[in-house]
Amino acid sequence: MRKNLEALIELQDIDWKLKELTDAKGDLPQKVESLSRRVQDARQNLQQLHDDKKEKNSRKATLDNDVVLFHENLKKYQNQLYHVKNNKEYDAITSEIDSTQEKIDQYEFESLEREEEVNEIEGNIKGAEETIQELQAELDKTNQFLKEMLVKTEDEERVLNEKRAPLLELLPRPILNHYERIRAGRGGMALAQLKDGACSECSAHIPSQRAMEIRMMNDFYLCEVCGRILVYRPDLVEKDDDGKE
Ligand SMILES: [Zn+2]
Repeated sequence: MRKNLEALIELQDIDWKLKELTDAKGDLPQKVESLSRRVQDARQNLQQLHDDKKEKNSRKATLDNDVVLFHENLKKYQNQLYHVKNNKEYDAITSEIDSTQEKIDQYEFESLEREEEVNEIEGNIKGAEETIQELQAELDKTNQFLKEMLVKTEDEERVLNEKRAPLLELLPRPILNHYERIRAGRGGMALAQLKDGACSECSAHIPSQRAMEIRMMNDFYLCEVCGRILVYRPDLVEKDDDGKE
């Protein structure tokens, strides 16, 4: 049993370090994903604005073109006025002139409206480009940060997992399952140490008879309050804050 308990201690140390590495990455992966989506949306929006601008410009060009044609017609009608033979013809031509002039006014007005819309869209395009630039910069920065973190943790994780494998082989399945269950329910920490006559994790008092038994490391004892597996680690009293790196 002592061997099993010692293997569990080693396993818990490794698992704790693995948990710390995962915690260090934090929400960086999700952050990268959400920023990527926002950049994509912003680009789509920008494309839409460019399409709108193109459409308005093309509409304006058509209107301007028509206005030129109307002006030519107008000139023609005005020339014809000099050659009218009667009042009826005169009235017909003036009526054409009036309606053409009306169309010119209307088309010119519409053309101006399109121009204003294009100006507004250009402002929006500028804003959208700035937004994309800002988001992209933040995405690049976060991505770089995550990559560095992954490179840094990858090796550590590999080494830890290599050390972990033989322990999993060594430990009997029921003990391992029990350990994993407690670990999952107790924030990644399945073991607790006997420390100054108490449980190191929840501070529950441990009777001296039981404490003596735990010190022997010959059997499995669970803390009656937090349910963790109690072990005795005199090594931790000396090097409690044994910093890594
Ligand atoms: Zn406890």
